[in-house]
Amino acid sequence: MTEPLSHPENRKHAPHVRRHGIKQFINIYNQNKDRIDRCFKWGDEIEYVIVRFDHNNKKVRLSLRPKDILEVMDEREAREGPKCEVLWRPEYGSFHIEATPGQPYGHQNEMNGKKSMNCWFNNVENNMKERRRDIKHLLGPDEALLCLGNFPRLGCDDISVPYSSPDPLNSSTGSIFVSDVLTNSAHPRYIKTGYNIVQRREKKITINIPIFKDTKTPDPFIELFNDKESNREAKVDHIYLDAPVLGMGCSCLQVTMQATNIEEAFVLNDQLLPLTPIMTALSAATPIFRGYLSDYDCRLEASSASMDDRTPEERGEKPLKHDKFRIHKSRCAPLNTYLCECNARYNDNPIVYNTEFYDEMISAGVTLSLAQHMAYVFIRDPTVTYWEKLDQNDSTETDHFENIQSTNWQTMRFKPPPLNQQSIGWRVEFRPMEIQMTDFENAAFSVFTILLSRIVLKYKLNFIIPISKIDQNMSTAVKRDAVNRSKFWFRKDIFAQNTLQDVNNNTNSSKTNYERYESEEESYIEMSINEIMNGYGNEFPGLIPLIRDYVKDLSLDAQTYNKVQQYIQLIADRASAKVKTTAKWIRDFVRKHADYKHDSVVNEKITYDLLNTLNRIQNEGINVNEFV
Ligand code: ADP
Ligand code: MG
Ligand code: MG
Ligand code: MG
Ligand code: MG
Repeated sequence: MTEPLSHPENRKHAPHVRRHGIKQFINIYNQNKDRIDRCFKWGDEIEYVIVRFDHNNKKVRLSLRPKDILEVMDEREAREGPKCEVLWRPEYGSFHIEATPGQPYGHQNEMNGKKSMNCWFNNVENNMKERRRDIKHLLGPDEALLCLGNFPRLGCDDISVPYSSPDPLNSSTGSIFVSDVLTNSAHPRYIKTGYNIVQRREKKITINIPIFKDTKTPDPFIELFNDKESNREAKVDHIYLDAPVLGMGCSCLQVTMQATNIEEAFVLNDQLLPLTPIMTALSAATPIFRGYLSDYDCRLEASSASMDDRTPEERGEKPLKHDKFRIHKSRCAPLNTYLCECNARYNDNPIVYNTEFYDEMISAGVTLSLAQHMAYVFIRDPTVTYWEKLDQNDSTETDHFENIQSTNWQTMRFKPPPLNQQSIGWRVEFRPMEIQMTDFENAAFSVFTILLSRIVLKYKLNFIIPISKIDQNMSTAVKRDAVNRSKFWFRKDIFAQNTLQDVNNNTNSSKTNYERYESEEESYIEMSINEIMNGYGNEFPGLIPLIRDYVKDLSLDAQTYNKVQQYIQLIADRASAKVKTTAKWIRDFVRKHADYKHDSVVNEKITYDLLNTLNRIQNEGINVNEFV
């Protein structure tokens, strides 16, 4: 078993890990900067929870069986390798399990040299269904695999089998709500991550999610805990949480796509970034935390705060003395940088970065924006380091790079190819979406994301607005019913290009950065998601009509075409409020429940009925519309 460094050692060796991580990145960059991957491949990741129903007592709890299940699945994968249709992976919670397709979609094209999109459209939802069949024989009679943004009562008493209870004095996180047992123990990295984060920030995790004020919710809403730090940190009118697993325990839907070359990966990174808040709002699915209805519909705030390892100096609570940087965001946060040089002037957030690493990357030929992005990613400490991996050969190994890269949980991730892997090129991962209730919806959001990426490339669309505006949009997107109640900054003319020419002109002109922004303010306005997606009048074409045009030209067979149209229609209907988001569906289910007292409390019985209904919808094929 790999042996992690103790906390002080982890911090002591952080500069070593960073220094070598950057050298490893430079090596990856130089080996791959000219590579071309003509075959378009992509894949989704879904995080599931396993629950166990106690039908006699009308209770449902998290089942901590994924560890055993993964042992079986890992053995099978070792035996059958690329023949597996589904790959199962561990996740942060001990009740969590992640699945991806056995091979990325589109890989068949690579094998038979075709370029057709036809073959994979149907595979997505089929693979999601296959995952449920695949795991079925390993589940007990009362257990179920569920797509669920957050277990509604995570952090309340008696929510796991076996039973677990918080142990603030002896646990790795000091949490008054959850035991370490709820964090994955199959590998030391998960518990150690939480422990190191808490040590580094010099206090417990603090998460405050605004509570949904229903007619009988106490006003003000104040909870008193048997713990001084908690009482100090808990905000009035908020649901207070204090452990990594209470944020990382949320589940999400991710999509990774391969680009033809590094430049195309930059374009996809940049053009999909302004869409992250829009897709968060459309996919909202997480309206309950620790047994209370919240005024947010999404997990982002909880996961971001749950992995915030910044020290008091880095957070700006104390003047800088021991630490190098004042850092404005958690390592789990909206992406901070555009990567195309022509978009660099829209990087208007403060970017603190390691200038030594930056200079080293520039001397090695890395492009300016990518160097700045990586030098920003590499201001963080590794969350966990292992003794056996400390000494590495930077020209053949990449663990130090991956260590820091993969623990920067931003809303998008620019993924370089792994060393010496023919089949994996430059990729971009789209990470802002919430998990949907059904395979149909998860497939719809995955396919829709891919279609967005295709129209960006085909029609050379331009969604770029200042990064600070995207952050502002994200703060809006997570709020209750944001999809239909809020407006979002969006680019007015999505066909006008940003060119390097403009940048050069601007640089040569006597205007200050600020004045340049002033003149660019004309280029974006506030729109509703309905307007952005479905368009309005002659003013704005809407992304969905563009996608429909694109799909028409794909010459899909009739059945596939109809399926894709259903996916697109779901997004169109969410945007126009014709169909509820998952969050709204869950919220309405709770508020209509006979046991709900309009005090924001989601009790055990409501949770049981909600999850039982979700199970029937997801695993027994009951139509979701029966419950609307
Ligand atoms: P991570 O957790 O680091 O994001 P995973 O391995 O869990 O990585 O998921 C990666 C996703 O990328 C999977 O859906 C997988 O099918 C997909 N994938 C694998 N190879 C490629 C490729 N060459 N291009 C695009 N996507 C790929
Ligand atoms: Mg994964
Ligand atoms: Mg995951
Ligand atoms: Mg992961
Ligand atoms: Mg991922």
